[in-house]
Amino acid sequence: MKLDVDRDRLMSEIETLAAISDAEPPAVTRIVFTPTDLKARAWLRARCEEAGLTVRQDAIGNTFARWSGSDRAAPAVGTGSHVDAIPNAGKYDGVVGVLGGLEAIRALQRSGFRPTHSIELLVFTSEEPTRFGIGCLGSRLLSGSLSAEAAKKLSDGDGQSIEEVRSKAGLDGALDDIKLSAGYYKAFAELHIEQGPVLETQHIPLGVVTKIAAPASMRIVVEGAGGHAGGVLMPDRRDALCAAAELILAVENAAKNSGGADTVATVGICEVFPGAVNSIPSRVRLSADIRDTDLARRDGVIEAMENACNAISSSRQVTIHTELLNADAPAECAPQVVQALSDACTKHGQEFLPMISRAYHDSLFISRIAPAAMLFIPCRNGYSHRPDEYASPEDITRGVMVLAEALATLSA
Ligand SMILES: [Zn+2]
Repeated sequence: MKLDVDRDRLMSEIETLAAISDAEPPAVTRIVFTPTDLKARAWLRARCEEAGLTVRQDAIGNTFARWSGSDRAAPAVGTGSHVDAIPNAGKYDGVVGVLGGLEAIRALQRSGFRPTHSIELLVFTSEEPTRFGIGCLGSRLLSGSLSAEAAKKLSDGDGQSIEEVRSKAGLDGALDDIKLSAGYYKAFAELHIEQGPVLETQHIPLGVVTKIAAPASMRIVVEGAGGHAGGVLMPDRRDALCAAAELILAVENAAKNSGGADTVATVGICEVFPGAVNSIPSRVRLSADIRDTDLARRDGVIEAMENACNAISSSRQVTIHTELLNADAPAECAPQVVQALSDACTKHGQEFLPMISRAYHDSLFISRIAPAAMLFIPCRNGYSHRPDEYASPEDITRGVMVLAEALATLSA
């Protein structure tokens, strides 16, 4: 089998998809189920059909493009990622795994390889939490990690329910039918940019992911007392923002002192009410994101935060409400898929690094119903979720080549 990746075609497809965007180039904004996202989906579907793949969509718009194997009844081998992009993002996050996965299939087709197990490209709906406030919506439903009941309660920032939004997008099947059976995939491998600096810094071209860190997110509301910035003297204040500031530092400390190098915690949103220069903040809304590869350690940070909330609310006479929005368990990647990816690197003479994914991905959820692992390629300076996100054509091509080799092994 001689594998040839068509680099020029793949690069031009990445550029074409990047141009289907609601942001000025080089930035990419593609929020799920906007007219732009629907246009991108239609374009992508045409590329899959052009490759002779059979395309179907489920009720939430997860898209499956299948190259049938000689044993059609056997479980499929999956690959894929997402094409939605947060506001002002880059061209490569998710896209490399989708268009790269498609090109891996085309390279296998051109090589004369014929799979026994079907090979399926899976494009997940709404990996990014931008619209519905929850990441990996498609893969959560596929894996049963989010029930159809819970999904129906989701709505976007304009108050449109998920049912309305998907019906406008032409998706009318039942959400209950999305979940895949445990035997649906024999294996799943997701190609992705690293979104961190490790591969680039260590000059290693490929990373084989052995664990995916688990995020937890919390919404925290601090209620104090407002008042005139001139009229209320300091001893009488119950300033919600000052309390929130203490809490933010407590979150940082809890992560720093978790006892593990993999613990990270971030307060990324801080909304201050009423938000006037001469008014004491009466209410602050924070959102915190806490991740680790170890569930107990991650949950230890959440506990430390809750203790800090109690201490701060009594010392500052404020009320603090916390709401745990999600707390997913980390995933161990499947040894047989890790092995197939590692062997494929070796076969192509490529050095690789066994590593941890610190960002979370659809594979985190797919790993609950299928043996899954990920293949990382470097991205410049580790930048991602910004317009200057960049992966070189050489690195992308190398990733696609190794992915194709692994798909061949797994589907033979
Ligand atoms: Zn991604």
